[in-house]
Amino acid sequence: MPLLVVGSIAFDSVETPRGKVDRMLGGAATYVALAASQFTPVRVVGIVGDDFGAEDARVFEKRRIDTGGIEHAPGKTFFWAGRYNVNMNERTTLVTELNVFSGFRPKLPDSYRNSRFVFLANIDPSLQLSVLQQVRIRPKLVAMDTMNYWIEGAPKELRKVLRHVDILVINDDEARQLTGEHNLTRAAKSVFRMGPRILVIKRGEHGALMLSGNSIFSAPAFPLEKVCDPTGAGDSFAGGFMGHLAQVGRINPGALRRAMIYGSVMGSFAVEQFGLKRIQALRLQEINQRAGKFAQLTQFEL
Ligand code: AMP
Repeated sequence: MPLLVVGSIAFDSVETPRGKVDRMLGGAATYVALAASQFTPVRVVGIVGDDFGAEDARVFEKRRIDTGGIEHAPGKTFFWAGRYNVNMNERTTLVTELNVFSGFRPKLPDSYRNSRFVFLANIDPSLQLSVLQQVRIRPKLVAMDTMNYWIEGAPKELRKVLRHVDILVINDDEARQLTGEHNLTRAAKSVFRMGPRILVIKRGEHGALMLSGNSIFSAPAFPLEKVCDPTGAGDSFAGGFMGHLAQVGRINPGALRRAMIYGSVMGSFAVEQFGLKRIQALRLQEINQRAGKFAQLTQFEL
């Protein structure tokens, strides 16, 4: 089933100990869409400016990504610049230029309004809510991401959208900040009271945790020798996770656990090269091979 994704489409300048790239196509929605498109057709809602060219559009169109929901507005596309520290686990945002993103009011094309699987990438929670309100019937699965900026700056709006969300996908710092709980099991209980019944916590090089009810599933991070650029790892994780669930069309404990592994697979590929380079050129066979390695990585007998 198609996956509806809303979020930022950006140009990113990134500096890591492995090098520097200026103004490459990025943005949370772009990473989510490209990763998910390996598993299922994707519909994207976002906004771009005059500097978004035919070549950029082709990145989406080459995959199963419907770009009818990308609005073209006069002005410049959202721009973000960041720098990573030596061991790549800290990043400093150098520049955030909202540009056309500041006037963004997401508008779903009519053909998107029957979407059953929805991912709300990190944007203003009131815009996330407006996307949900435009979907005709309550989707089968709604997941969302957010960040410290909205947790601090728009707590009321965030709580409002959380009431309509099944799965919250955030990192460990954000989970602690949102709930005021340091212990992640307690943080999950607090998130469940806000609406979502599942909390997925991305922990970078330490893998990812999924908490629901009283059950916890832990996916390791793939041990890579060389990390080139962590940008978009979390969004690629979300794309693999939601892409798999939309592909199977069912949400049960087995599918959710496999989704955690496909998310981890896509996150691990994303960081191997700068920007979208690796995610864009991936073949299904490579994805399946790496999923098999994940199974080996955690297999043991009692
Ligand atoms: P991640 O590394 O998964 O956190 O995502 C990085 C992507 O998020 C980059 O491609 C940026 O363009 C995008 N991004 C950075 N800051 C923001 C923001 N404030 N709102 C929306 N997207 C952002």
